[in-house]
Amino acid sequence: MKIGVLGSGQLGRMLALAGTPLGHTFSFYDTAASACTTGLGETSVGSFSDLKALTAFASRCDVVTYEFENVPCAAAEAMASKAPVYPPPRALEVSQDRVVEKEFLQSLGIDTPAFRAASSEAELLEAVTAVGFPCIVKTRRLGYDGKGQARVASLDEARQAWTELAGAPLIAEAFVPFTRELSVIAVRSQSGQTKTYPLAFNIHRAGILHRSEIPAPGVTPELSRQAHEIASRVLTELQYVGVLAIELFEVGGKLVANEMAPRVHNSGHATIDGSVTSQFENHIRAITGMELGSVVSRAPAVMYNIIGSLPDLERAAAIQNAKIHLYGKEPRPGRKLGHVTLVGPSLEEDQVLESLVRGAA
Ligand code: AMP
Repeated sequence: MKIGVLGSGQLGRMLALAGTPLGHTFSFYDTAASACTTGLGETSVGSFSDLKALTAFASRCDVVTYEFENVPCAAAEAMASKAPVYPPPRALEVSQDRVVEKEFLQSLGIDTPAFRAASSEAELLEAVTAVGFPCIVKTRRLGYDGKGQARVASLDEARQAWTELAGAPLIAEAFVPFTRELSVIAVRSQSGQTKTYPLAFNIHRAGILHRSEIPAPGVTPELSRQAHEIASRVLTELQYVGVLAIELFEVGGKLVANEMAPRVHNSGHATIDGSVTSQFENHIRAITGMELGSVVSRAPAVMYNIIGSLPDLERAAAIQNAKIHLYGKEPRPGRKLGHVTLVGPSLEEDQVLESLVRGAA
């Protein structure tokens, strides 16, 4: 099949790297050509508001998918008249707005942090008072990697947040005193088959994912059950096709949903080397109408992101169980340049790699 991907960053790259051996070809649509997908398929350059160019792109594809969730819903819906678009456009609508997303999750009986919406300074002061201090104030739309948010512990700080976040529609969320951050990567096929990978344990630094481990250590069967239940409810309600990620907080033996991404996810990269079928291959299998592959871990896998600048690759490569994945991007502060996964690592290997990637960041 010819698979069209909206966006041409590292997720598009890894989708193509997984789908090419299955016999598919790829083309990308983005606002500029990207080094990540060089050699993996043509890129059509255009704007995401140009419905004519987008529908023309879709008509040249057998199926269309996306690697980022800020694709305008109108664009996804227009393209759906030319080729199937997976995941379904409604998943974009739900995940693009943090208020809509939390209302959706709660309507399915899934716990989220308490929240209030605010679109003026007065409303924000009311909202933070209602959810209590400390709380996190975020823009409703277009936030990522901790951008567009502020921790607020007083009314004064709330006023400051209103100014800093430039008057955008906001959400105030109760601060969740979590023991750790987890995520669940799940996938649903066109025939409604649903699978969830073992939970990932995630550590962020400066708001960006730093380390992710699959399976998360110390997960009880009850916690796994909760994760599977949460993912299944969302997938079924959306009649979803493809991979979905849900970021979770573990608090007092329970899972609270933070946010979801209707796409392959950074916290699932360890599945490339650690799982029988990677999240990327399963996404491709789902959107092309194949049966899903096994989500079982072959071995515990630990992934570190390479952010900002490259570590000493010779030393990283010398680690017995390390697999290096570079995305072809130019180094720039805060930029995800690649990741390294350790499969079945010793504690020492884990520590050596962590110090290498920390040293470079
Ligand atoms: P987000 O952009 O929503 O994924 O938030 C980025 C990071 O901020 C999360 O990974 C958490 O570490 C932290 N965070 C976000 N929301 C909350 C919350 N309601 N309570 C506690 N920590 C949070």
